[in-house]
Amino acid sequence: MYAAGTVRMNRFYKPHFISDKDIKKKKSGYSEDLVSQDDIITVKWLDNKPVHMASNFVGTGTTDKAKRWDKQKSAYIEIDRPEVVREYNKSMGGVDLLDMYISLYRIYGPSRKWTLRVIMHFVDFALSNSWVEYKQDCIKAKIRKKDIMDLLEFRMHVSKSLIYMNKPVNIKKRGRPSKSKRENTPDRTRKFSCCEKRPMTEIQYDNVDHMPQIDDKTEATRCKLPLCKGRTHFYCDKCRVHLCLVKERNCFERFHRK
Ligand SMILES: [Zn+2]
Ligand SMILES: [Zn+2]
Repeated sequence: MYAAGTVRMNRFYKPHFISDKDIKKKKSGYSEDLVSQDDIITVKWLDNKPVHMASNFVGTGTTDKAKRWDKQKSAYIEIDRPEVVREYNKSMGGVDLLDMYISLYRIYGPSRKWTLRVIMHFVDFALSNSWVEYKQDCIKAKIRKKDIMDLLEFRMHVSKSLIYMNKPVNIKKRGRPSKSKRENTPDRTRKFSCCEKRPMTEIQYDNVDHMPQIDDKTEATRCKLPLCKGRTHFYCDKCRVHLCLVKERNCFERFHRK
């Protein structure tokens, strides 16, 4: 893992850098590198005041120019800027942004035990970071902006696939547990909304417990297999979409096979 950041020099064991007093006599932009035996690079750089940086992958490196206001000359001057400062500025704020993402949809567990809260925090942490990577992948794949999931959709997607993927339908029990005969039957209490949403592909192709059911509507519903114009009373119990299941066409099977 690459890291770069500002450091307090008293956290190191007496690094033999130029003293603050002496570095101030140098020209702004002056820098010095020290590399430890385990390859940690520390840099002392004279910005408006001395700055200490540490990194495991970059030091002064290739410098570029930074604009600074010169009080004595009353004008902007260009000073040398070490590569580590440039890298740091580029990614600085990433941690704050991550904290913000986590705070948006944080898992609030009932437990006050710190161990559980730490674990929950790591789940939030991983989800937020995965979403950032997912967005980067989408942009690379040139997916339209409106088709990219926002953080809430992304979290719902992950949770739904964890709940339903590779699991039979009747595993989910609604409300309080009961010993009625509904317990071992698929949940058929959910009514269809006016437009049937396409199921997630992870669930559509998981080959677990996709059972045909027959609705009790008076009119048949459009089949959801792409390009099929048929109407049917059959629907998949798990995907909650209508699919033809007749002698002429088995959309039900085609829908569930890749
Ligand atoms: Zn299905
Ligand atoms: Zn069909």
